[in-house]
Amino acid sequence: MTPDEFRAAGHALVDWIADHRERVPDLPVAAQVRPGEVRDALPPSAPEVPEPFAAVLADLDRVVVPGVVQTQHPGFHGWFPSNASLASVLGDIASGGVGALGITWQSAPALTEVEQVVTDWLRDLCGLSGEWRGAIQDTASTGCLVALLAARERASDGSEHRGGLQGHDRPLVVYSSPQAHSSVVKSALLAGFGADNVREVAVDPVTYAMDPAALAAAMEQDVAAGRTPAVVVASVGTTGTTAMDPVDAVVDVAARHGAWVHVDAAMAGAAMLLPEMRHLFEGVDRADSLAWNPHKWMGTILDCSLLYVRDVDHLVSVMSTTPSYLRAATDGEVVQYKDWGIPLGRRFRALKLWFHLRLDGVEAIRSRLRRDLDNARWLAAQVEAEPDWRVVAPVALQTVCVVHEPDGVTGEDLDAHTLAWVDAVNASGRAFLGASRLDGRWMVRVSIGAEATERADVESLWDLLREKVAR
Ligand code: PLP
Repeated sequence: MTPDEFRAAGHALVDWIADHRERVPDLPVAAQVRPGEVRDALPPSAPEVPEPFAAVLADLDRVVVPGVVQTQHPGFHGWFPSNASLASVLGDIASGGVGALGITWQSAPALTEVEQVVTDWLRDLCGLSGEWRGAIQDTASTGCLVALLAARERASDGSEHRGGLQGHDRPLVVYSSPQAHSSVVKSALLAGFGADNVREVAVDPVTYAMDPAALAAAMEQDVAAGRTPAVVVASVGTTGTTAMDPVDAVVDVAARHGAWVHVDAAMAGAAMLLPEMRHLFEGVDRADSLAWNPHKWMGTILDCSLLYVRDVDHLVSVMSTTPSYLRAATDGEVVQYKDWGIPLGRRFRALKLWFHLRLDGVEAIRSRLRRDLDNARWLAAQVEAEPDWRVVAPVALQTVCVVHEPDGVTGEDLDAHTLAWVDAVNASGRAFLGASRLDGRWMVRVSIGAEATERADVESLWDLLREKVAR
């Protein structure tokens, strides 16, 4: 494709994206395909000769659009918000267009330094101290793995078993809550801690937040049994209910054992942009690492996850490689992001964050987050006031966890009722929700925060929920 051909196709694509975004509110929110349908709609082999761009665009409408959940729809309340602000989409396009090779500072100094600037901007916007340094990772899952690897190496520093945890004379232990995201246990296993050395610390039965006294007891028990508490993952905004582990108290307990504290604030981190919400994050500044995703509620298109650490030298000592073919005269003077994580080659992700912040402005982002918090409180108040409905977990942020409990319906029957009405809501195409297990029963998560969701949409949603439970 020549630049001139690109110009024509690119203009058509940008028009298509703008038209698509205007059309999204009229589309069904749920994906409209059955397993295998997308594959069957495509030829079994790649074309030998070029196709016209119009044919590719037509397939976006025919095959791709029906094959995704419309997360930009005002009725999208599933999982967590997955906003893709158009400003950040432009940044993503620019990133592809620049075509930089992000392997070392020398291969693309701007890639490194724009990333340094935007991660510092966000650190400051979140009220974190200047001690933190950030890098953009693909996901919070990767951020957690990197943090656990760094924690593992710190805990085993000086040990003759440095290279192999299984044979460690004092096995290293990871602690998190049963409400933590599945990526935490996955990271612990990938990092080699071993299933026997991963603890689920009890949570408060009302708030679902980690109980620091239970953490202290678990750590002491491990020490008594000859194990080493190595790392605690505090979840700030759990996936199920947005429970907020008390980071300040967790850090105090962890400090008694020199354990690393990683804060997983994948969704909730955006709330740190709001000074009035920062009390929920007390103690985060004292942790060792923090991951949060602008690619969720804040609205920078996937993938854009921030991993901050306070001890960069330690992280680099764990992650750095210095192959001779990457040697450059300015080594030693510059930041090498390849040494802050797992991959060598990195995309120019900072551009989408830079575009997002510059083109939308922080004030607009903050007021959207405040709107969503307000909408969640409004919905929770409606649910609480309605007979047979119940909010089952504190509404710390923008997610409201609800059940509808008709008189006399309990146990398995209640579960069946819950799953039936959530499926009916999703089948309506007007809204999209998810169900999740809490205390052994199904409940429904209404996760508010799509960029397009206004109060009127939440009001319509509340009507829809009441309509669907009455079927
Ligand atoms: N941590 C929490 C609390 C989450 O809610 C999620 C995803 O929803 C993750 C981690 C994983 O995020 P990612 O998809 O960026 O790996």
